[in-house]
Amino acid sequence: KPVTTDMKTLTEEIEKFAKDKKVEIDTLKIREEYRKDFLGNVSHELKTPLFTVQGYILTLLDGAMNDKNVNEKYLKRANKGVERLIYIVKDLDLITKLEAGDLNLDKEAFDIIELIKSVFELLEMKAAKKEITLTFDMEYANPIYVMGDAEKIQQVLTNLLVNSIKYGHTNGTTEVSVENLIKNKVIVRVTDNGGGIPKQHIPRLFERFYRVDQSGSRKEGGSGLGLSIVKHIIEAHGEKIYVESEVEVGSEFSFTLEKVAQKADAPKKVKM
Ligand code: ADP
Repeated sequence: KPVTTDMKTLTEEIEKFAKDKKVEIDTLKIREEYRKDFLGNVSHELKTPLFTVQGYILTLLDGAMNDKNVNEKYLKRANKGVERLIYIVKDLDLITKLEAGDLNLDKEAFDIIELIKSVFELLEMKAAKKEITLTFDMEYANPIYVMGDAEKIQQVLTNLLVNSIKYGHTNGTTEVSVENLIKNKVIVRVTDNGGGIPKQHIPRLFERFYRVDQSGSRKEGGSGLGLSIVKHIIEAHGEKIYVESEVEVGSEFSFTLEKVAQKADAPKKVKM
């Protein structure tokens, strides 16, 4: 049977590789399982948007192309599907690098208040579409300098805020705050009053591709990777991420960052 042969060849290959490289066979087998599981998930994620795009293209080729009333609409929908595919592939690329520990952090001192303001500006439209208000009570506060990779921390904030919009109720509110934790630490909180997360899901929330509601997440255009990317970035900084949530009350995601006295005190750039 071809399947057995394939499996046998693979096992032999792994054993040979392990012997040559003098690595523990168990570690390799776990890695191989992990890789298979990852690839299975990836093809599953890509299938739905690919079929959607193909559906619109086939309809156009079938004659809709000549129908001025619908052809632009179908093309726009096909393009939306392609945009979604690009978004998923970008997230996949990032998670692969993060999991392999291949991502260099470009650490510098930056003003977290300024960063929050810029993320708010980027997401204003998205929030407004769902009539969600983004609030930040420190809008006019003095700068707070933290040490980290500003671009990556921007991604963390974006993912958390996008989630609070996606899973928030129409007319809801998301609040961001920065507080002093201990002498050289601040904690950034993103709090929403959305649907919340049932208790039993919380321990698995940061796993890649884990979703509380499969169809709800896909409908919202999620890749299922947002929170695992967030966790990897925060942990790569040596910091911590927390979540508290209650169904129909809301969720709070928070993470710590290293505070630095002022920009001048901080080393210019620390490559990690
Ligand atoms: P997705 O692409 O599905 O949003 P994430 O990794 O960002 O993937 O989130 C994983 C799951 O956690 C989501 O599918 C959703 O069920 C749940 N979730 C994340 N953030 C929130 C939130 N603010 N409120 C309610 N549920 C959330």
